[in-house]
Amino acid sequence: MKPHLAIPLSKIGSKIHVTFGKTMENTPNSFHLDSILSEWTSSFLQECSLNSPEDLEKVSGYLNIIKEQNIFRAEGVLEFEPQLECVRSLTLYREKLKVELNGFFVPYNSQKYLQSGLSKLSQQQNSDEIELTESDLESYSFKGNAIQLDEFLLDSMFCALPELPLCREDCKGLCPECGIDLNEKDLQGNYQILEHKKSCFHYKPLKS
Ligand SMILES: [Zn+2]
Ligand SMILES: [Zn+2]
Repeated sequence: MKPHLAIPLSKIGSKIHVTFGKTMENTPNSFHLDSILSEWTSSFLQECSLNSPEDLEKVSGYLNIIKEQNIFRAEGVLEFEPQLECVRSLTLYREKLKVELNGFFVPYNSQKYLQSGLSKLSQQQNSDEIELTESDLESYSFKGNAIQLDEFLLDSMFCALPELPLCREDCKGLCPECGIDLNEKDLQGNYQILEHKKSCFHYKPLKS
């Protein structure tokens, strides 16, 4: 496993088109990553049940990295299909999510870095309150001669996860009393009359 998803500055030059997953583009000045699996991203991907090589190559998209003076601006899109658990019925299901990638990378210890929230964050112990602006949250620092995309991609995907996942909008959930799944449908797609447990308040014997 790769330790990091690193793009060497020498590759980037003034602009580079990075592609992820299946969407292989053979344009000049592009950089391709078969998967975004690294030591940093592996536990998040596992939590989303994106484990097999086929799952991983479906995590696809692109990122344009453009050099603006000392700063690298990164913009793109990433699609992934995590496995989620419905908050009402506890059903496991997959949902396709499209993430806008938007951020910038500033050299560690540069003027821009020292003014940003990143340096405020690293001095957290010394101050009581830190105010972060939107752009601080989108900025990442880099050291040495490569940009590492791991944290940026992780944050972006994490923010895209629904707060209250629902397997479907009208999910009926579980009976609060006996726990039976109220979504069961017959072959015609009609809701079945479900037989709750005999002890349940909703119990009605099924007609045969
Ligand atoms: Zn549900
Ligand atoms: Zn019940």
